[in-house]
Amino acid sequence: MIVGAIVTAAFGSNASSPAGVVIDWVPNGGTGATPAVTQLPTTSPPMAVSGFVFPIEGGCLPEDDSLMPGALREYRNGTHEGVDVYDSDNCEFVGLETEVLAAKSGTVVRADWIYEDLTEVSLAELEEFVQQGAITPDVEDAFRGRQVWVEHADGTVTRYAHLAGIVEAVDVGSTVSQGEAIAFVGESGTPESVNDPGTQVHLHFEIRIGDDYLGAGLDAETVRSLYEAAFVADQ
Ligand SMILES: [Zn+2]
Repeated sequence: MIVGAIVTAAFGSNASSPAGVVIDWVPNGGTGATPAVTQLPTTSPPMAVSGFVFPIEGGCLPEDDSLMPGALREYRNGTHEGVDVYDSDNCEFVGLETEVLAAKSGTVVRADWIYEDLTEVSLAELEEFVQQGAITPDVEDAFRGRQVWVEHADGTVTRYAHLAGIVEAVDVGSTVSQGEAIAFVGESGTPESVNDPGTQVHLHFEIRIGDDYLGAGLDAETVRSLYEAAFVADQ
């Protein structure tokens, strides 16, 4: 099908535009800079994936672009790399311990069974890094809280973050089926988990392609269309 062909072409081109269009962007892992897109690819379609199910049963993409990938996140001087599934902007109830589903079948490559919740002390340390502009991947990772990552046969990886817990059978190396419950919604890793508990309960869900997130560096409208396409079943 068409989408599969696009994926193959995009992987094969090693992320540089075949049409010679220069996308001047800044990686998000540290500088906190907004991806600066000097020119969007116009002659070739953006990389696309499909065949995922939404990681909350009955859930959907939020309407607010600030909950989508590419949005700014000032508290950590960075860019949002996933989809935030909050009860306040979704078509399904999302609460503490709501089941998180594997968006596609695959192999678990990360499961944070050993996880220490943020404390006032550890949060203060993280915020110090942010203030100093010293945001490393480790700092960004800490703000995602307890996580599960699943690698899929198409080369993508899905990440599920801010989890309250993990389903018992899920650990590194285990295989999961599409739609299988793998974890539970929480708010781990958020500053509010320390400062104002119970106010940031949501799932942060990422689709990773190579070293970046699906839609990196693209405008909000394009990002949304890519995620809509991702949740279309493969034919
Ligand atoms: Zn998020």
